[in-house]
Amino acid sequence: MRKLAAGNWKMNGLAADLAELKALAEVPASCEVLICPPTPLIAQANWQMQGKPVMIGGQDCHANAKGAHTGDVSAAMLKDAGAGHVILGHSERRADHGETDALVAAKTQAAWAAGLVAIVCVGETEAQRDAGQTLDVVATQLAGSVPDGATAANLVIAYEPVWAIGTGRTPTLAEIAEVHAFMRARLTERLGAEAAGVRLLYGGSVKPSNAVEIFALANVDGALVGGASLKAADFGAIVTAL
Ligand code: PEP
Repeated sequence: MRKLAAGNWKMNGLAADLAELKALAEVPASCEVLICPPTPLIAQANWQMQGKPVMIGGQDCHANAKGAHTGDVSAAMLKDAGAGHVILGHSERRADHGETDALVAAKTQAAWAAGLVAIVCVGETEAQRDAGQTLDVVATQLAGSVPDGATAANLVIAYEPVWAIGTGRTPTLAEIAEVHAFMRARLTERLGAEAAGVRLLYGGSVKPSNAVEIFALANVDGALVGGASLKAADFGAIVTAL
């Protein structure tokens, strides 16, 4: 399976910052690169990346296909603007907007209906890890946030410990490997052989200095990168490490 480096710009970036996309060096044929800029930049980013091996995605979508939802964006709108993927259930959305597993599952269905690949995020808080609840939390989020109908082609899972996002702290390699093996097993129970092809990304303070050792782990099929995706030099180094 080809590894995936996905960049999440969050609420950062104006049109001028798309120069960072253009500055991304060669993408090795062995991997795929995705950038998820803020929604207003998707169409322009897609246009600028025409003919280049960099895919564009969204950071969220509404669960409904259309209607009276002022300020929201549908999956079809993301697709229409040039997105092929959408991040769903990021911990910042779960925390800032009270998104539940059921809502994330509904959004995932909406993404699939529009022809988008859903990148569903799961991960424990620090208190949950300290309480020994990590695998239970991940199991519950996986079961609740991924609806029936998942395939290797329409689903990517990102394991993002909440306490590792934007903090410079990461789990140990053994801890990452444990959660990823657990997620693969859970998906296999549900999807059978199809689960072997679902990409499992690690996210949380990935940077050029730790990317090589994280990507070398079994069941780590790439990364979801926040802060280090904003600069072409850092993200390019992470892509090279894939
Ligand atoms: C993220 O927001 O998905 C993320 C992993 O952020 P960072 O890489 O900055 O920790």
